[in-house]
Amino acid sequence: MTDQPRTIALIVAAGSGSRAGGDVPKQYAAMAGRPMIAHAHAAFAGHAGIDGVLVVIARGDEPRLRAALGNVDFVLGGATRQGSVANGLAEATRMGADHVLIHDAARPFVPAAVIDGVLAALDTHDGATPALAVADTLARGDALLGAVVDRTGLVRIQTPQGFRLEALRRAHAAWPADEAATDDAQMVRRLGGSVALVQGDPMLDKVTYPQDFAAAEARIAWEFRTATGFDVHRLETGEELWLGGVLIPHDKGLSGHSDADVALHAITDALLGTIAAGDIGTHFPPSDPQWKGADSARFLRHAAKLVTDKGGRIDFVDLTLMCEAPKIGPHRAAMVSRIAALLEISPERVSVKATTTERLGFTGRGEGIAAQAAASIRLPEQPR
Ligand code: MG
Repeated sequence: MTDQPRTIALIVAAGSGSRAGGDVPKQYAAMAGRPMIAHAHAAFAGHAGIDGVLVVIARGDEPRLRAALGNVDFVLGGATRQGSVANGLAEATRMGADHVLIHDAARPFVPAAVIDGVLAALDTHDGATPALAVADTLARGDALLGAVVDRTGLVRIQTPQGFRLEALRRAHAAWPADEAATDDAQMVRRLGGSVALVQGDPMLDKVTYPQDFAAAEARIAWEFRTATGFDVHRLETGEELWLGGVLIPHDKGLSGHSDADVALHAITDALLGTIAAGDIGTHFPPSDPQWKGADSARFLRHAAKLVTDKGGRIDFVDLTLMCEAPKIGPHRAAMVSRIAALLEISPERVSVKATTTERLGFTGRGEGIAAQAAASIRLPEQPR
C-alpha cells in the first residue's frame, strides 16, 4: 500500500495526420526504426512515476496500433481532440487514476526530465504543462511584414500536460459545447484551476510536416554499443557444412542440434549481447526439439529484429572463422552478401575473416571450427 497517486499517461493518437503526407497517419509512420507512436509509448511505459499508458486511437486504426505496439491498452477517440481526451479520461477513471498526463502522439521524443517536472508540479497545482521561452522575434504579417509583437512573457506550450484527474474532468464537463479548446491546460485554467509551467524541451517539438520527420530524427541522441559472440562446433563426416549461411562442399560438416553454422551463431550472440538479451540458447534452447536441424538464418534474423524493435540500427558486423580447412577465401563474398541480406544492411557493413591456428588445438587438428564475432549497433539513448 502506498499513498503515491496513481498516474496514467494518455497518448492522443486519434488524428489522421494528413499534413505529414504518406498513406498512413503520421503517428504510425516509421521514425528512427520504429513507428512514431512507439517512442512516446516507451518513454512513458519506462518511467517509474507512470503506472499505466493508454492510447486513444481512431476507429479502424486497431490493426495499425497492434502492428506498432502489440497488445497495449487503448480506447477509441471521438470526433474532436477534446472528445478523444474525454473518452480517455473516462477509461483512466475506470483504471483508478488520480493523475493523468495527456500527450500528443506527434511529439515522439519525451525526455524523462520533463515527465519528472510535470509530475512534481501536480503536488501543488491542478495541472502542469511544459513550456519553452520564445527565442525568435515575433511579428504580425501576411504577405508583408507587420509590427513586432512584444515576446515578453510569451511561451510555447508543449505536452505532456499533467492534471489531477478530477480537475480535468470538471473542466471537460463544464466546457461550452460550441467552443473548441486549444488544449487541456487552457480548459483547466479557464475554469479557475492553477496550471504550473515547467521546463519544456526542444526534443518535444511537434512533427507535423514531412520535413519534420528528418529534423526529429536528427535530434535523437544515440548511444553506441559493441558486443562479441563466440561459438564452436565439431566437424564430422556425413554432415553438411553450413558456414555464414552458405552451404560449402567439404568432406566433413559441422554437427550440432541446429544446422550448426558457427559463424551465424557467433554473430547472433554478438547481436544479442548488444542489447543484453542473453544468448542464442536463451532464445532457442537446444533441449527444444523444434530447433533440430533448424536453419540458423532464423536465429540471426530473430536477434536482428530484437535490435530493430528497440529502435536500434546495426552499424557493423565483423566475423573471424578459425579452421585449417576448408579454405574460406573462395566463399567469403557469398558469406558477406548472405549475412548482409539476413541483417538487411549493406555488404559494406559486414566483414568476414579467417585464420588457421597453425595446426594447434582442436581447430588445428581439424576436429572442429570456431567462430568469433563482434557487432556494433546504435540505439536511441537508454535510461542511465
Ligand atoms: Mg552453436
